[in-house]
Amino acid sequence: GWRSRAAFKLIEIDDRFHMIKPGMKVIDLGAAPGGWTQVAVKRGAGRVVGVDLLPVDAVAGAEIIEGDFTDPEMPDRLKTMLGGPAELVLSDMAPNTTGHAPTDHLRIMGLAEGALDFAMQVLAEGGTFVAKVFQGGSERQILESMKLAFATVRHVKPPASRKESSELYVVATGFRPERLTARA
Ligand code: SAM
Repeated sequence: GWRSRAAFKLIEIDDRFHMIKPGMKVIDLGAAPGGWTQVAVKRGAGRVVGVDLLPVDAVAGAEIIEGDFTDPEMPDRLKTMLGGPAELVLSDMAPNTTGHAPTDHLRIMGLAEGALDFAMQVLAEGGTFVAKVFQGGSERQILESMKLAFATVRHVKPPASRKESSELYVVATGFRPERLTARA
């Protein structure tokens, strides 16, 4: 069985966008307890590495790193483990919340921006990035940044995501690294 309710969100997102392709190299940020990692393996990904601050029980067919994705060594370490750049970066990361909505929103968006920055360091040209964001004002900025670096950016609220939760997911496809270099 799936280890998390969150697994159903990735199943629903993938049923709609078909991001997970046979044999592909996948990084799953914020992997604990391992549901999304399980789904990526089950749907045929070739190499999957999950990263989390928390320990994750072994997932057959995947590798797990217990650590912080913002560790400066993480991009190179992951590319080495995968044997090259990733074709899909998933992020279901969420920070610890304070209960103070504006603070929580900033923390959440900081994490989403960090995940985008990370994805741009590890993705192959044409790659896909899926990340959890929260509605609350500043999610527009991250969408704008994503539109510069990816051919298409769409958002989705999977049915398994509770209606009362402000979370939604962005699906960005067609990573264009040269657009970034051109702007640097
Ligand atoms: N997708 C997972 C599943 O299906 O089992 C659930 C992920 S859970 C909602 C979010 C995770 O993000 C938490 O386990 C948390 O530890 C992790 N996380 C938050 N900040 C992180 C960071 N800086 N580096 C790595 N993981 C982080």
